[in-house]
Amino acid sequence: MNNTDRRITAQALNQQLLEQGFLAITREHPGGISLQNRIQLDNCSLQLIDTGILLVEPHPHQSTGMRDIVISSGIHGNETAPIEIVDRIAAKIIAGAITVRNRTLLIIGNPVAMNLGKRFDEENMNRLFNGKHRGKTHHEALRAKKLEKCVASFYAKRQAERIHYDLHTAIRGSLHPKFAIYPYPDGRYWNKNQIAFMADSGIDAILLSHQPSSTFSYFSSAKLTAQAFTVELGKVRPFGENKCEDFAAMENNLIRLISNQAVPALDQPADKQQSLLNKVSIFEVTRELIKQSESFRLNISKQEKNFTPYPKGFQITEDHPQGHIIENDGDAIVFPNDNIPVGQRAGLIVSRTTI
Ligand code: ZN
Repeated sequence: MNNTDRRITAQALNQQLLEQGFLAITREHPGGISLQNRIQLDNCSLQLIDTGILLVEPHPHQSTGMRDIVISSGIHGNETAPIEIVDRIAAKIIAGAITVRNRTLLIIGNPVAMNLGKRFDEENMNRLFNGKHRGKTHHEALRAKKLEKCVASFYAKRQAERIHYDLHTAIRGSLHPKFAIYPYPDGRYWNKNQIAFMADSGIDAILLSHQPSSTFSYFSSAKLTAQAFTVELGKVRPFGENKCEDFAAMENNLIRLISNQAVPALDQPADKQQSLLNKVSIFEVTRELIKQSESFRLNISKQEKNFTPYPKGFQITEDHPQGHIIENDGDAIVFPNDNIPVGQRAGLIVSRTTI
């Protein structure tokens, strides 16, 4: 390809982004896009860093916001609602319908798995962050490494409040249809304003993590000191079957953040947030269930919902040498999954708590 062809191709990609949208161009180039030239729009600039990674920055004279916001989706390729949310936000930015005041990085995480309509291709990407991609060469490991690098360099540009919401949908139904996982804070406080923001965005429950993990949100929290959450927005459905009104509270709050409008849950002191905090149930992880043998079995039905409470003494799993017995009345299981290799996590036992 000569230089003229390269320029035309590059222009064509930016043109395609503007005309067809972020999701369409990501779908068409799952394997990667080279760094593109910046596109100057009336109220912001856009830059495709790679496929599914779109940097949005206010023009310097408009850069009044002091938050740097990462909104990621599609780390699991079949979780379409979050991908559609990110695509709608990108479309509104391109159309000039959002006045961008805070730097924002929009991500569609795993375009290969998305095109396959699968949760993952080679390996669950949300087990590959925080360095867990090291020594692996498959595309999902390389993509996790790339996303880590992009988020780190996005935040490194200036001193600002760092926020990362990694949006997902769950395999099962849930007694708390929308919930957020708060990564292990490594000695930092649980931030009540952030929990109030989740409540204000339609989240019913917060799950406090008990240890470091290999998720994207834990990476941003632990390595980059971001306020980060894995946000579960409901049940997984194919493209086109999500109702956008189900996600309006979260989507509108994200747009308010991007355009630096007042978000009382975050901007007013935590002691003013009690009514929002009262709306959410808070759980802590008390045990991680690891599949120890091929005889592992869950003693709950396939339809059982996340957060269903069990009585003390209930044998919730069979395994070798032993399964797990519920230790406290009301303890619940989240993310039960027996379709995994031995040695991997088959679910989390959680208990109600307060902060
Ligand atoms: Zn997911």
